[in-house]
Amino acid sequence: MSDLKEALLYEKFSSGVAMCELCPRNCIIMPYRGDVCWESLSNLKKENLGFCGTRVNLKGKLYAINYGRVTSLDVDPIEKKPLFHFHPGNKVLSFGSFGCNLRCPNCHNWEISQTSSLINSCPASALSIVKNFSAIEANEIVNQALENNCFGISYTFNEPTVSLEFVLEVMRLAHKAKLKNIWVTNGFFSQKTRKIILPWIDAANVDLKSFNQKFYRSHCKGSLITILRNIEAMGNQGIHLEISTLLLSKLNNDFQNLFQLATFIVKRISPYTPWHLLNFSASVSWQMQDWPSIDDQEIKKAFKIGKEAGLKFIYARRLQALNQEAKQEQDSSQNISLDTFCSNCQALAVKRSEYAVERFDENGSCQKCGQKLFLDY
Ligand code: SF4
Ligand SMILES: [Zn+2]
Repeated sequence: MSDLKEALLYEKFSSGVAMCELCPRNCIIMPYRGDVCWESLSNLKKENLGFCGTRVNLKGKLYAINYGRVTSLDVDPIEKKPLFHFHPGNKVLSFGSFGCNLRCPNCHNWEISQTSSLINSCPASALSIVKNFSAIEANEIVNQALENNCFGISYTFNEPTVSLEFVLEVMRLAHKAKLKNIWVTNGFFSQKTRKIILPWIDAANVDLKSFNQKFYRSHCKGSLITILRNIEAMGNQGIHLEISTLLLSKLNNDFQNLFQLATFIVKRISPYTPWHLLNFSASVSWQMQDWPSIDDQEIKKAFKIGKEAGLKFIYARRLQALNQEAKQEQDSSQNISLDTFCSNCQALAVKRSEYAVERFDENGSCQKCGQKLFLDY
């Protein structure tokens, strides 16, 4: 049974029932009585699987069915994750598996993240798909990162939390090989998971989708408070943090929500934490194909709210027209772009054109006035 790995975090009960402790959902999973092998899983029922579709209870033991299963392995610029202040202009190896512990209908990566709903609705057919995702060893990922001159490995595309067993192995090997570990995460993991993973993470982009608990409950099937605690814990542990928010018209882009979210970043992490405003794209979304796209003015409004809250670095893709407008205003602190400007004298520090990076800083500080810009190497 090479590719079914016993889960790291769960509680067993004498009845054979298991409770997963990986994320705050704490799924109660009923035992499947068939043999512990892929072939016998075809009769699996919904109650034998966790919500994320990555954990099965086989005869009272919980197994990770995504262990060593890879759906994407690409060499990417770190800016694509997006992380703009962590080793700018360098490459990472991006690893993705499948499954997610949230259910956001706007998800752009739903084909790999939302296998859970397919698995839950028809376990037998979905498991045959999952079984066909390529298998890979942890050390192969590290070797590929080294061969491609990457400075680190990013755990991305789907939520890395639900691949804890495998990701942890890769992260340990990565540190041995002097590679950095970068998480792109929804931040929805348990305290026990947090204790295990934080020592191995060097940088993270956390997707903070809203500052409204109701939004998290009804839209994402998650919990805001857990995510805020995890973000704070990551910041306190010295992990390099950047925050992303996908702007959704009428759902999370009102003033109060964005101001509270940006103020949280300023007060509980740092005003120098980069905030990335991401565009929602209806055509690639999972269940929101008819939802209106966000327009330029809404992005500009979000940018201004972030500035008002005190954030020094806010980034948004596209918006050439708005840049022109900002130039006319002769104020680069209002320039919505991918470039980094000094937070003190507004001198250009990093120029980004798509994924090409040109640097004008001096060891992470402004060349002109010496202001520290929190650009980590
Ligand atoms: S990781 Fe998956 S199985 Fe475990 S509690 Fe979360 S959703 Fe449930
Ligand atoms: Zn300066």
